[in-house]
Amino acid sequence: MPEPEILIIGAGPAGLTAGIYASRAGHHTLILEKEMPGGQMLKTTIIENYPGFAQPVNGLDLVQQMEAQAKKFGSQIEIGEAKKLRLLDQGFELETTGNTYHPRSIIICTGASPRPLGLANEKELTGRGISYCAICDGPLYQGKEVAVVGGGDSALQEADYLTRFCVRVHLIHRREEFRAVKVLQDRVRTNPKINLYLAHIITGINGTNRLESLELKNLKTGATTTVPVAGLFIYIGLIPDTGWCADIIKTDENGFIITDDKLQTTVPGIFAAGDVRQKELRQIATAVGDGALAAMNAHDFCTRHKN
Ligand code: NAP
Repeated sequence: MPEPEILIIGAGPAGLTAGIYASRAGHHTLILEKEMPGGQMLKTTIIENYPGFAQPVNGLDLVQQMEAQAKKFGSQIEIGEAKKLRLLDQGFELETTGNTYHPRSIIICTGASPRPLGLANEKELTGRGISYCAICDGPLYQGKEVAVVGGGDSALQEADYLTRFCVRVHLIHRREEFRAVKVLQDRVRTNPKINLYLAHIITGINGTNRLESLELKNLKTGATTTVPVAGLFIYIGLIPDTGWCADIIKTDENGFIITDDKLQTTVPGIFAAGDVRQKELRQIATAVGDGALAAMNAHDFCTRHKN
């Protein structure tokens, strides 16, 4: 197979959109994905703020449409995980789990993964009561009590979603104010199945083979409580997937890639799009805009460096 001209790493909304634009501009375009296309969209129950859908759209349906559109214009999608990026005298070399590529331009769309709480027992009980994905695991908790931790859009949206299955959802947040948008705040505050623990943190996770209860501490009074729950859904933000390139490409103190207004990184010819880059607003709509812009600037770069 010939080397791709534009190599896109990650097949979430940013990567798939970059694929649509790059292949439609006539470039041999390869999109690498380490698991399956979709990124965070696959973990989103309903999407109600992506323009073009007056009725909420399901994350998987939207992914499948984007994937089909990228393939229609000639993008190839392959399974492979980026392991090491090298700068050569002329161009780049990307080593993946199964291959080595020498593209003319690279667009990094590797996104971000859920941040763990970092408490004892968290790893051991992941998959045994602890989850980072309500859409994947929510139905397992039919008729049970669960907790959600976090105060952003993800925590509030998924707490509301979990009330479809669960008799009670305890929403635990370390501050009195939520960071989530107002529409989601209103939804959780008026949902009778959601019990708010504001200004509370989780100090302990109890259970041997399965999660049994959580230890909570009230940050205002210092009081502690034990809350029996069958599930804990952790939504406390994201960690960017940049470990494989952070020695070459400049990131901020949290690991998010720094880009200019063309979405070019500190290395000319390498662009970044979507959740993986330092930005104000992480949404499907902004990831899609990033993908388009990065692809058109990668196209310009390839045209200027044809030989
Ligand atoms: P986020 O906006 O970064 O919020 C993380 C939340 O977790 C914050 O409330 C934060 O508390 C809390 N937190 C962080 N570290 C913690 C810790 N160690 N212990 C306890 N709590 C902790 O993350 P997100 O909700 O996953 O959202 C990520 C991005 O996706 C955001 O840009 C969001 O807007 C977007 N998103 C949008 C939608 C939508 O539009 N429907 C849905 C999902 C996600 P503090 O507030 O005190 O810092």
